[in-house]
Amino acid sequence: MKKFFSWFLGILFTVIVLVAGIFAYWYFGSTNYHLTGVPVLNYHQVNNRYETCLTMKPENFEAQMKYLHDNDYHSITQEQFDAYMRGEGSLPDRPVLITFDDGYVDNYEFAYPIMKKYGFRGTIFLIMNLMEKPGYLTWNMVKEMSDDGMEFGSHTISHKPLTSFDRDGVRKELQESKAMIEARTGKVCNFIAFPEGKFNAMVMEETKNAGYDYGFTVETGRDFPWDDHYDLDRVPFFEGPVSFKHFRFRLTFSAFSALLWKTHAYFANMEMTKPLAEHIPQP
Ligand SMILES: [Zn+2]
Repeated sequence: MKKFFSWFLGILFTVIVLVAGIFAYWYFGSTNYHLTGVPVLNYHQVNNRYETCLTMKPENFEAQMKYLHDNDYHSITQEQFDAYMRGEGSLPDRPVLITFDDGYVDNYEFAYPIMKKYGFRGTIFLIMNLMEKPGYLTWNMVKEMSDDGMEFGSHTISHKPLTSFDRDGVRKELQESKAMIEARTGKVCNFIAFPEGKFNAMVMEETKNAGYDYGFTVETGRDFPWDDHYDLDRVPFFEGPVSFKHFRFRLTFSAFSALLWKTHAYFANMEMTKPLAEHIPQP
């Protein structure tokens, strides 16, 4: 019995040391992109008008940009991201790619000036059918921001999930949106965010055929050069009142928390394991 007890203690000790080691690795290495990948931050609206799950208050957005600035994070361009994903070039320390989905007018009114103040730039994914509509960006705003270093990507023509179209429909959504953005900005558009994050093998194939180099989803995680370039994770910051503490935690541990999110989703998928999923946090 005594022998069993000391054996048990030995194993327990080993597990504790291992867990502490992994934690320290993630914590202290979490800002080294070689070890833990590049976080692609995903925002939607930045305004004081609405209180939806997509909306972040400008003051909260500013606090986050200030934190990034004060802690030596650097926003990277599409070109830098592309070089990293092809395994070429080197990034500045603590790189982040800042992205916005849907093309809300508040990206121009609030997010862009705040980012500019801290020396950051980012990518806005536009929906063609909503351009110039109330609450959304105009092409003049897009051109002005584009000339000043902001970048753009496609969020398709209609914003309907690409998985809901047949192959011809998918092609149209992909090709026409790409051509429109390129005509308006005078710059190549090879980044796309899939509406609702939905895609399948056919969508990925057509995305590549249409000339896009990168496709982003709404799955949580960071991106590594060896990831599928048409199934790229992001770090979501659009669930309404994300506290500053939560922002910092999610930014630092996004490589780690992705594992929990994926495990949660995996268990939530099957009837039998659904109750288990409730016990797995989604940080
Ligand atoms: Zn969207």
